[in-house]
Amino acid sequence: MRRWAEALIALHLDPAVWSFGFDNAKTRAGLCSFDKHRITVSRYLAGRYEDDEIHQILLHEIAHALAGPRVGHGPRWRSIARELGYDGKRTHDGAIAHEFAPWVGTCPAGHVHYRYKQPRGVLACGRCSKRFDLANQIDWRQRSVTAASRRPAGSI
Ligand SMILES: [Zn+2]
Ligand SMILES: [Zn+2]
Repeated sequence: MRRWAEALIALHLDPAVWSFGFDNAKTRAGLCSFDKHRITVSRYLAGRYEDDEIHQILLHEIAHALAGPRVGHGPRWRSIARELGYDGKRTHDGAIAHEFAPWVGTCPAGHVHYRYKQPRGVLACGRCSKRFDLANQIDWRQRSVTAASRRPAGSI
């Protein structure tokens, strides 16, 4: 994933200035550090995200790098993020923390999936096969998540 993230950063930012790394955060997905010129993704959460979600997290952080510090998620950041292809549909802000998603599913191979809403119908694991295959059916369980733990625990 590192090479892929570095390539994406180099596509949008000056690779001589900006670098990529992993961090150990558990309550946010990504971070854009302006003083270190470094974009990091949680090592802990990266293993749990689907590739397209990691791509979205990286675009979110690259948009911060391009928009500059102190603009937050204001109009400037939003228009840059949109241009990059950030869909903004998922809550990558704050404690996206799939850790806190109430629905947890596992496929027969043990890949873990998270959903904020009860999954409808039968879902097959996209990490086992890009094509729908009932052999990779995900088994969903609901767990209790407290309101406090779902509050954003930091900004990304
Ligand atoms: Zn799987
Ligand atoms: Zn952000």
